[in-house]
Amino acid sequence: MDFTIPENLKLMVETVRRFVKQDLEPVSQQVEEEDFIPEELVRKMRELGLFGLSIPQEYGGLDIGALGECLVYEELSKTNACFRTRIGTNNGIGSQGIVMDGTKEQKEKYLPRIASGEWTSCFALSEPEAGSDAANIQTTAELKGDHWALNGLKHFITNGDVADMAVVFAVTDRKKRARGGITAFIVEKTFPGFYVGAIERKMGMRGSHTSELIFDNCLVPKENVVGGEPNVGRGFATAMKTLDKGRLTMGACALGAAQKLLELSVGYAKQRVQFGKPIAEFQAIQFMLADMATQIYASRQMLYHAAWLRDTKGTSVIKEASMVKVYCTEMANRVADMAVQVFGGMGYMKDLPVERFYRDLRLTRIYEGTSEIQRLVIARELLKE
Ligand SMILES: Cc1cc2nc3c(=O)[nH]c(=O)nc-3n(C[C@H](O)[C@H](O)[C@H](O)COP(=O)(O)OP(=O)(O)OC[C@H]3O[C@@H](n4cnc5c(N)ncnc54)[C@H](O)[C@@H]3O)c2cc1C
Repeated sequence: MDFTIPENLKLMVETVRRFVKQDLEPVSQQVEEEDFIPEELVRKMRELGLFGLSIPQEYGGLDIGALGECLVYEELSKTNACFRTRIGTNNGIGSQGIVMDGTKEQKEKYLPRIASGEWTSCFALSEPEAGSDAANIQTTAELKGDHWALNGLKHFITNGDVADMAVVFAVTDRKKRARGGITAFIVEKTFPGFYVGAIERKMGMRGSHTSELIFDNCLVPKENVVGGEPNVGRGFATAMKTLDKGRLTMGACALGAAQKLLELSVGYAKQRVQFGKPIAEFQAIQFMLADMATQIYASRQMLYHAAWLRDTKGTSVIKEASMVKVYCTEMANRVADMAVQVFGGMGYMKDLPVERFYRDLRLTRIYEGTSEIQRLVIARELLKE
């Protein structure tokens, strides 16, 4: 086993660490209050290539592999989570369907724009009646001449309001549904009949918006079926593959946030004095710090190992990726809870970032497949073996 991080990835991580420290962290609180990321910062993210971490180099991306992506996300997640989410859809759910299943023409047309960050992409699967049960989507697509007419409502779409395009899933055969009746479409925001609906009000993740997307006889050219004509009806597989691929990075985000919370907690415990001594001298506090550090250590090993398996062996890591997602996100939620406890009343105040991490991390157990769905995937894979 060799856990040495390759030099090129170390350099990338260093660059991101500097960017977080110098550019993102100083405005993190402002972004939280204004619920908006300044355009200047998005421009810097583009310059650093952060929108194209997972896009093949022939289409202008950095293609730094699963481990590289995880390392970058880990660093980026040590500050306000909205920054990572801003680049997240381009690297993950908004692009991978095209990377894996798109035609050559689709890749040539869309991936360079996604990789450079010139365009923001998003992923539109969830609907009011179809969350975990994604096969129950009601949005339909009907072939009318050279176009598909899409009708329906998507909700909870990350970056929906800033997206220039969306990978949208719609029913093309009601009888077949997930078994050959759902199709993936690339929909540009300028296509007639495509509207951004309400921006949803959330518990956290301020600075990152989720919105409804409305399709009202939205006309999508035939050539925008992901993968072209032969892939009509194969969209559900594209959606599931896309979500599978994102699970490791979600673990990395949780890990980075947990690491930051540990560092903040150690610092606070050393300087907060009660009963005449720093609270770090109380064993109750020490045990919380020890539990945080131990669980972070365990999470990091499983994350890096699964990423290494994917990069070097090309192994299918469906089971491991779900294990990483469920373990790391639940670990980070426990760490956030302990961090609030170590900070006492200050952990509950908006003056410090701990309460923001606590709220933002709650989401990681819900989106891109809830913890319960991850456990179903793990069990299914186990029982198949
Ligand atoms: C902030 C945010 C951003 C999001 N971004 C996107 C996005 O960009 N694109 C997109 O398409 N979607 C997005 N989503 C949707 C997200 O993926 C869903 O919220 C998630 O899949 C859960 O679906 P649901 O909310 O409908 O919950 P439900 O599916 O209704 O689940 C409710 C509860 O029931 C449990 N449950 C459901 N089925 C089972 C089962 N078979 N066995 C055991 N337990 C079960 C769930 O685990 C959960 O605890 C986002 C959601 C949020 C909150």
